[in-house]
Amino acid sequence: MNKPFTLPMEQATPTRASDYFGSLTFSGDVMLKRLPPDVFMNLQRTMRHSLQLDPSIANTVAAAMKEWALEHGATHYCHWFQPLTGGTAEKHDAFLSPTDDGGAIEKFSGDALIQGEPDASSFPSGGIRDTYEARGYTAWDATSPVFLLRSSDGHKTLCIPTAFVSWTGEALDQKTPLLRSIDAVSKHALRVLHALGDSKTTHVIATLGCEQEYFLVDRAHFLKRLDLCVCGRTLIGATPPKGQQMEDHYFGAIHERVLAFMAECEERLFELGIPVKTRHNEVAPGQYELAPTFEVANVAVDHQMTTMHVLRSVARTHGFECLLHEKPFAKVNGSGKHNNWSLSTDLGANLFDPRDETHTNMQFLVFLAAVIRAVDIHADILRASIASAHNDHRLGANEAPPAIMSIYLGEMLSDILDQLERGESKRSAKSLPMDLGARSLPQIPRHTSDRNRTSPFAFTGNKFEFRAVGSSQSVAWPNTALNTMIAESLDFLATELERKLGKGASATKLESVVRGLLKDVIKSHRRVCFDGNGYSKEWHAEAAKRGLPNFISTAEALPALVSKKAEKLFSSYGVLSKRELHARYEVQLEQYCKLVQIEGRTLSQMACTQVLPAALRAQGELADVVAGTQHAGVPCPESEAALRDLARQVATLRNAIADLDSAASTEVPDLEKRVPHFRHKVLPAMAAVRESCDALERVVPADLWPLPDYAAMLLVR
Ligand code: ADP
Ligand code: MG
Repeated sequence: MNKPFTLPMEQATPTRASDYFGSLTFSGDVMLKRLPPDVFMNLQRTMRHSLQLDPSIANTVAAAMKEWALEHGATHYCHWFQPLTGGTAEKHDAFLSPTDDGGAIEKFSGDALIQGEPDASSFPSGGIRDTYEARGYTAWDATSPVFLLRSSDGHKTLCIPTAFVSWTGEALDQKTPLLRSIDAVSKHALRVLHALGDSKTTHVIATLGCEQEYFLVDRAHFLKRLDLCVCGRTLIGATPPKGQQMEDHYFGAIHERVLAFMAECEERLFELGIPVKTRHNEVAPGQYELAPTFEVANVAVDHQMTTMHVLRSVARTHGFECLLHEKPFAKVNGSGKHNNWSLSTDLGANLFDPRDETHTNMQFLVFLAAVIRAVDIHADILRASIASAHNDHRLGANEAPPAIMSIYLGEMLSDILDQLERGESKRSAKSLPMDLGARSLPQIPRHTSDRNRTSPFAFTGNKFEFRAVGSSQSVAWPNTALNTMIAESLDFLATELERKLGKGASATKLESVVRGLLKDVIKSHRRVCFDGNGYSKEWHAEAAKRGLPNFISTAEALPALVSKKAEKLFSSYGVLSKRELHARYEVQLEQYCKLVQIEGRTLSQMACTQVLPAALRAQGELADVVAGTQHAGVPCPESEAALRDLARQVATLRNAIADLDSAASTEVPDLEKRVPHFRHKVLPAMAAVRESCDALERVVPADLWPLPDYAAMLLVR
């Protein structure tokens, strides 16, 4: 029997992380020990090659899983899924079942493992399902490991990653289309490889590693702010004297209290088999980042959702609240999630590894061309895939990539594209070693390209980094969009290659066909490549000249999801039917409006019940001072002026609140018109209230101010 798991910090001698890595997952090792060999092999095949699960083995697997879970102290199991809310969902069932003789036993059948039937009526469906057709199904995704989710006080629940669909089989979740898109990109990548003469690869895998940025604030402060509790971001708050201007936080020494939190997060994530690798202070005060080693995309997406859950729950046990919002504090950098994406073969070769003599690496160049073509043709869809009311506060704000989708390639690749456009490819620019000027320091090789933080979609050595993804977002949807659009380009290239090459083409013919194809694709789509400063005004002008779309906010970006082009893209590759796509669009429109409406109401409530009373108290105090001073025969024109100013500011705030209330409560029945209403009426009304509150924060005595201020929240003590 397994020993119950204890945290390393609770043990007399520390355990190595590798000893308990994945201990709370029903991993390959556990399966090997607990399943009959034929069942084990069958399940492994399913997992490795993303095949359909053989129902005949389900009971055996379920029994082994149950025993393993019970030995670890789990009492419940759940189908864990990702509805269109953007979060995760779980409905727990006890293993315990009563028996006829008044006793009880623990039960878990193959059926319960494979399929669940949660009532779908309260999840967003975008009109796919009416309440009278409430049935929804969850189906086990055997390609993602089953795990035991442990709460801070030790309760363990067996979580079975599942897809969630309506009773008609339509996707109601993030995982179903993601899995379909992974299949699509894998299928067409394989065709390209075969056309290029690779006969060994049998499977192509999308890989993903997501860097997660987040803020930590003291939980005591958090609980005093309705805006943080309800909306995850501050809706008011004057700029503190010290923000990030000293640039002293990024990569700074990690505060001990924060380090203790990070260490516990890592332990919890390691147990779950999530390979977190890096941790550091980010640019803004109170901001941090964590990144795992990349994994197969589907597993990486599930792990990313769990990572966000663990960050939030562990923060609370350390007296923090973890803010995953894209912009918790105005005028301070927001948070993103860098989405590192690549393709690799079942033999472990990274298809985006340019290798040394890149100009001769035709396979790499074909795959690169596929990405350039895809991002150019579907820049609007890629932009829409990361659109949210939250992310609007961040994109294009000189701290995050602009809303214009472009690709950064770096000097070496840009030089090769120049050559290919001329129909040649003669050289790959070499990197020279750097002399650091002190004898004791080693010579280090210089990369052929610098980093470019201003690009939304950067080639970073052997992968693409999609940097416009928001920190609180599920990465499933942007990756679904990415996989699908790249599948389409790979399909195009494979079809061209197959058509032009026929069977058994010579190496010379292959090379000339590939060169011709690369030349055409690069000529047509190179406009999407840009290595310069994405934050600059010049780029906005240049991008407009090149005809690149620039959807500055969600309201402008979302309609791209339901264009004829998008319908064709997602349906041709079996990722989303027209109905499923429109449903998703509708859910996103609704979410946008609801979110801004909630923010508007929260702000109004805080302004009415906290800021206004504080300002009035301050006004009363000042009036007493003025009256008392004048009564004593001392003139005090400055204080009198200050009193008049304060009274005027209070009046301004009252008017701004009235405007906000009226905008936020205006009924706009047509959903497509409601979005612009919230963007152009409610958000500006909120900005006016905020401006007024922030001005008052600077004049109301600190002991009367009812909210923790920015300085208090951003400094971890
Ligand atoms: P940086 O902050 O410089 O961008 P990090 O090391 O913090 O770099 O993060 C890079 C991320 O990219 C990690 O999650 C890493 O595992 C991931 N990554 C590296 N190679 C690949 C790949 N082939 N496919 C997907 N992700 C990758
Ligand atoms: Mg990065």
